Amino acid sequence: MSATRRDAENKTSREVGHFRRLGGWVERPADLQPELEGDVSADVIVVGAGFAGLSTALELTALGAKVIVLEQEFAGFGASGRNAGYLGGSLGIEFEFFVNRVGIEQAKKIVSFYDEGVTYVERRLDELGIDCDYNRSGNIRVGVHPSQEKKIRKAMELGLELGSKTQFLDQAEMRARGIPPAFLFGYAQQHGGTLDPGKYVMGLRHAALQAGVKLYENTQLLSYTEGPTIRCVTRRGTASAPYLVLATNAYTPQLGLLKDKVVPLRVSAIETEPLSSAQLTSLGWQGREGLITSHWTMESHRLTARNTLVITTKRLGYAYGSQTPNVPDDVAYRELAVALNDRFPTLRGLGIQSSWSGYVSMAYDALPVVGETGAQKNVIYTAGCSGHGVATQSLMGYLLAERIGGVEHPLLAALRHKTPSTLPEPLQWCAVKLALGAANLMDNWVNRKVQGGAAN
Ligand SMILES: Cc1cc2nc3c(=O)[nH]c(=O)nc-3n(C[C@H](O)[C@H](O)[C@H](O)COP(=O)(O)OP(=O)(O)OC[C@H]3O[C@@H](n4cnc5c(N)ncnc54)[C@H](O)[C@@H]3O)c2cc1C
Repeated sequence: MSATRRDAENKTSREVGHFRRLGGWVERPADLQPELEGDVSADVIVVGAGFAGLSTALELTALGAKVIVLEQEFAGFGASGRNAGYLGGSLGIEFEFFVNRVGIEQAKKIVSFYDEGVTYVERRLDELGIDCDYNRSGNIRVGVHPSQEKKIRKAMELGLELGSKTQFLDQAEMRARGIPPAFLFGYAQQHGGTLDPGKYVMGLRHAALQAGVKLYENTQLLSYTEGPTIRCVTRRGTASAPYLVLATNAYTPQLGLLKDKVVPLRVSAIETEPLSSAQLTSLGWQGREGLITSHWTMESHRLTARNTLVITTKRLGYAYGSQTPNVPDDVAYRELAVALNDRFPTLRGLGIQSSWSGYVSMAYDALPVVGETGAQKNVIYTAGCSGHGVATQSLMGYLLAERIGGVEHPLLAALRHKTPSTLPEPLQWCAVKLALGAANLMDNWVNRKVQGGAAN
């Protein structure tokens, strides 16, 4: 490597931290499960070992099914091992995206799906004995400038109408909680909090292995043939079963499915060095609530159990053709570093130790995309979790296991709706870039007002 290139990389690493290809929470497991070789069969094949795939496998096993999981890298490689760790219910969702499309009654049921997800994960952490530093702090959707109050109140009121239980916090209440002063007001949902998603997904992996789930890691599904028995083809083997569950999230379009329904979006994160005890004391923030801002593209700010700050989102990315390259996004990391400085001016100089990105899948109406395909309706898929899959994709495992067992849970029924079709390329690339660019412009306008100290 040339000295100039090394200098440039060192500079980048100082500004945005060390790029972590596997995200900030997980490493490749020491007990990596062997790749599938030869021909195997089961009652159900699950593809993808994130929250959705592992939860489905665990729930099916509890119903007595023989389950195979195929994972292209290792369990937790996808968004489940890379997210910000907000166990959030309906607080984070954009009701106005879907309420008019599905109507108030279905929207209420969808809201309860999001909130039930939190209850489900809390119960599973206890049942499976998973310690993932879960802090039942609740989460708050916050404003950073007075001009955001109207939007926040409107979203909160619509949420209340739909059954999303939240409480408005004015400046005095925010300060009484010790929330850092850049966050002016907001509405809080007490249900939920923050956790270490790496420990959670690895806890699910361990539980699945203990329960007898046959997990093949380093095993990519290359293709499958439909029929009463589905045959999955991997590099060195095949797996057959009467049911196939595709829990492949943002990677699903690459399998030739849901390309017309979901858009893979790149979400990025930075993590600071640990705060000193003096910095933590001066920060206040005793409850360590997870904060998400009400920008068009939100910022999320949270403290971790290791006393670092993790900041995510703010700049989303889309790769032409719904690809999911596992590469750094330095523009996004720099923007997140700006957010760190803007929201925590007293921590100026705090180093950024790492940065990473992952992929979520999003439908144009921001709702989950779940259903079945094939002549036998035995290929079941779940995607479209947007940025809210810690709770929902875990609960999805329970709902899909029941569905395969022959029972359609009312919450699964509530999610069935007509997902709007996405655009073909290159229109999709243009449309997504335009939408993200417009959101960035509006967010920059608010941020400039904050930086300039303007009141309106
Ligand atoms: C930076 C970031 C921050 C986020 N923050 C939050 C948050 O705070 N709270 C929240 O609720 N949500 C958050 N999310 C979203 C959340 O992480 C996801 O919704 C959730 O993890 C999705 O789980 P999943 O199991 O559906 O998919 P994934 O975890 O993506 O799992 C899919 C798996 O399928 C595997 N796979 C794909 N194709 C194949 C194939 N052909 N063969 C075999 N295996 C395959 C992948 O390797 C992967 O392991 C965030 C996401 C990101 C990226």
